[in-house]
This record gives sequence, structure tokens and C-alpha cells, in this order.
Amino acid sequence: MSELNLVLLGPPGAGKGTQAERLVEDFGLPYYATGIILREAVAEESELGKEAKKYMDDGELVPDELISRAVAERFESGETDSGFLLDGFPRTVGQADVLDDLLRSRGRELTSVLLIEAPDDEVVRRLSGRRTCAKGNHVYHVEFDPPKHDDVCDQDGSRLIQRDDDRPETVRKRLAVYHDQTEPLIELYDARDLLMRFDGTRPPEEVHDRIRAKLAAKRFEDDE
Ligand code: ADP
Ligand code: ADP
Repeated sequence: MSELNLVLLGPPGAGKGTQAERLVEDFGLPYYATGIILREAVAEESELGKEAKKYMDDGELVPDELISRAVAERFESGETDSGFLLDGFPRTVGQADVLDDLLRSRGRELTSVLLIEAPDDEVVRRLSGRRTCAKGNHVYHVEFDPPKHDDVCDQDGSRLIQRDDDRPETVRKRLAVYHDQTEPLIELYDARDLLMRFDGTRPPEEVHDRIRAKLAAKRFEDDE
């Protein structure tokens, strides 16, 4: 079967992480969320984490070179050789170029870019109620997708936390950054006929069904 080299694109809070959890199970793809990679680096106080922290706290993007290096390491190690799901990368035109180079130099290309769309007011509602499991990065919402027991992850029993950058002031900054620096990628990938659009305001299961169906159809076409 043809390999799946996938990117999840969309504003913060659109549901990329939520869908990624499901897609990883469906397709068994290695999953790289640059936000998770960066938060782990901050927790470990590695060089990457020390550099990245100030940008993340302010809701700004970390510099392209820094995050691109971390992504390139995953490609160099061979982990992505039979497909991948990238979440939160690329987020700038410069990062899209880096990804193209990483793939091209290996004789590969992107299969599809999955765009999950949600309006700003919905994003603000979602991020203010988002809770994330401290261990496995499973995602919940206090109202829209509550855990069975308050503040405890259903999947691994660990504590649920609220991310520092989900405070309202930082959320507004992150949205502005998305519109300014990341949204141009929509046109870029659309022009290359790679874009698949999904309405992120639908319930999580419905969004998941649509993505899975579209990917299955695409794979069928590619394998014809
Ligand atoms: P969300 O999906 O909620 O926007 P992420 O977890 O993807 O948040 O990202 C959190 C923060 O990590 C971003 O606000 C940014 O500072 C940093 N970050 C993540 N991915 C990238 C990237 N590809 N380029 C630059 N900064 C990034
Ligand atoms: P992203 O990775 O794009 O930043 P998340 O997957 O972390 O977004 O989702 C942000 C918040 O919105 C979480 O609290 C999550 O539980 C909730 N959420 C995700 N998808 C939906 C949906 N389709 N409807 C309602 N809430 C959702």
C-alpha cells in the first residue's frame, strides 16, 4: 500500500491533537507534534527547551531553524521512512520549504495536508477549557469532551493540567500569529493540490469519520 506522509494544519484549538490520537490508531503512523516536542524540551531544560521557552510563553513561534532542526532529526533517524503524521509543523512558509527539502532529498513527497478549520471565537472557547494529560498528552475539554473523573486522564490515570499558553491573552496572540504566519500555507498547499479541508466545528467523531474516509479514498486512488 502507498505510504501516508501527512501534515495536520489549522488554528490552535481546531482539534489537530484530538484527531491525531485517532488517526495514529487507524493508520499506525509515527506522530510528531512539534508543540509536544517543544514542551518536553522545556520540561527537560535541554538547550532546545531553554531557547524555545520565551517564545512559547509569549505565544510567538520559535525560530524556524530551531524547530526545523528538531524535525530533521526525526527524518535522519529513519523513523519516518514508511510514513508519518506531522502536527503543528510546518507553521511558516520557511518551514514548508524545509519539509519539502527533507522529503525531496529522500525521493518522497507529501501525500496530503489535512486542514481542520474553526473560527476564532470557537478556538477561544475550546482553549480556555482544554485540559491535557501530564504524561501521554491526551486531550480533553471540561465541557465538550470531559474525562470520566475530574482532572484525571481516562487513558492512563495521570493528572490533567491546563497549559500556561492557554490563558486568554496568550490565546489571542497565538491566533494572530496563526493568521499572519501560518494561514499563507493554505493557499500554498491548495495550489499544489494537496489540501483536504475539514469543518472542525463538527463533533470530534464526525470530523474523524470524514478524515478517515477521505484518506481511505485517496489511498485507493493512489494504489489503482
Ligand atoms: P496549538 O496546536 O494549541 O497551537 P502547539 O502545541 O502546536 O499549540 O504549539 C505550542 C507552541 O509551541 C506554539 O505557540 C509555538 O510557540 C511553539 N511551536 C509549536 N510548533 C511550532 C512550529 N512548527 N514553529 C514554531 N513554533 C512552534
Ligand atoms: P489543537 O491540537 O488543534 O490545538 P486540540 O485537539 O488540543 O486542538 O483541541 C482543543 C480543545 O478543543 C481540547 O480541549 C479538545 O478536547 C477540544 N476539541 C477538539 N475537537 C473538538 C470538537 N470537534 N468539538 C468540540 N471540542 C473539541
